[in-house]
Amino acid sequence: ACLERIEATDPKIGAFLHVDAEGALAQARASDERRAMGASLGPLDGVPVALKDIFCTKGIPTTCGSKILEGFVPPFDSSHVIRLAQAGAVMVGKLNMDEFAMGSSNETSAYGPCRNPWDLERTPGGSSGGSAAAVAARQVFGTLGTDTGGSIRQPAAFSGVTGIKPTYGRCSRYGVIAFASSLDQVGPFGRTAEDCALLLQAIAGRDPMDSTSLDVPVPDWASGLSSASVKGMRLGVPKEYFVEGVDPEVEAAVRAAMKRLEELGAELVPVELPHTEYGISTYYVVAPAECSSNLARFDGVRYGLSERQEGGLREMYFRTRAGGFGPEVKRRIMIGTWALSSGYYDAYYLRAQKVRTLIKRDFEEAFRKVDAIVTPTTPTAAFRLGERADDPLQMYLADVFTLACNLAGLPGMSLPCGFTSGGLPIGMQLLGKPLDEATLFRVGAAYQ
Ligand code: GLN
Repeated sequence: ACLERIEATDPKIGAFLHVDAEGALAQARASDERRAMGASLGPLDGVPVALKDIFCTKGIPTTCGSKILEGFVPPFDSSHVIRLAQAGAVMVGKLNMDEFAMGSSNETSAYGPCRNPWDLERTPGGSSGGSAAAVAARQVFGTLGTDTGGSIRQPAAFSGVTGIKPTYGRCSRYGVIAFASSLDQVGPFGRTAEDCALLLQAIAGRDPMDSTSLDVPVPDWASGLSSASVKGMRLGVPKEYFVEGVDPEVEAAVRAAMKRLEELGAELVPVELPHTEYGISTYYVVAPAECSSNLARFDGVRYGLSERQEGGLREMYFRTRAGGFGPEVKRRIMIGTWALSSGYYDAYYLRAQKVRTLIKRDFEEAFRKVDAIVTPTTPTAAFRLGERADDPLQMYLADVFTLACNLAGLPGMSLPCGFTSGGLPIGMQLLGKPLDEATLFRVGAAYQ
């Protein structure tokens, strides 16, 4: 049914870069057989899922939305692919994304943008646009994405689905093509907080292949969610997230959702996050710096595209990278290389790392008083395709409310909380203490 749904809807939406129908049907049949034989079943047995095209999949093309990885077929699976298979899930295919996860609209994809299922003229958000759209269009039941500065929460908000970026280190990054290693985290999209809990507990936990994955127990987040309550919970409301520039309809929907949480028994507590205004400038130094280093490996020798017609080694590097990377990726590599270069390192990279610490401390202070923080996920609902494509700064502003969470390494979730008068989904963001995804799931389930 999912394959039929994809066939019927995807020519218009463009969520998938690759559908592995044969592989999916084989996995589905194996699940049916397990069921028929009375064998033990995994927690996701037979559930069709799909992955952002940033996850390496053995024998299945993986492009990361870039021309430079055209034709690249990984010889191994990411840890998440293996864990999902162990949980019994059926992997249907690979999803559209901004090139190397750099973008907020899916428009930097070398394979054309994905469209928002609620309004095909609009972006589903990015960079995990395909992952959000595939759930919104009911093509699959859950997907995985990555979030470096908002790439799970922002598209979840724009597409009217639920998505969570867990605590940095909660999930392995092994087999996930790196963008900014100190910020990247893997997380799920689902129809509900409960679906996200089921997916996250299947992929989370220590992985010997990634030394930054945390060796802490993975709770059974999903059980008990049907009776979840927010009674007595203290929810922080940071004034820095309710400011000029937030669309009045977005603010009204988030305030109404907060009121409902209050009616359900939560207490709303004003908190301050005074360094919020430095989030964008800090992120846009740290993330490009790390990306300039991570993307050095795409040299025409090891993966995908290789321009070797004439000339020597330098010529090959030059041609491959000039032709293989899109403009946004090149912009980031140049900014990052510059910020890391001698003479500028102290003024930019080092300073950004210091501000990052201040942003983290703001949250530590706020979390002394509250159990979680509630904000809008984005200042506006989904914008039109093309509207911001030529204006990088406008594009970067789409992440103004999601970046700080990554800089501080915290868990963050986006939940649908209403619609604009034009029928576009609006998202509410919940930010939690490190490793306290449980509270976010509880609030999400109680609200939904
Ligand atoms: N939109 C932000 C960027 O372009 C965040 C992307 C992400 O989280 N991968 O960097």
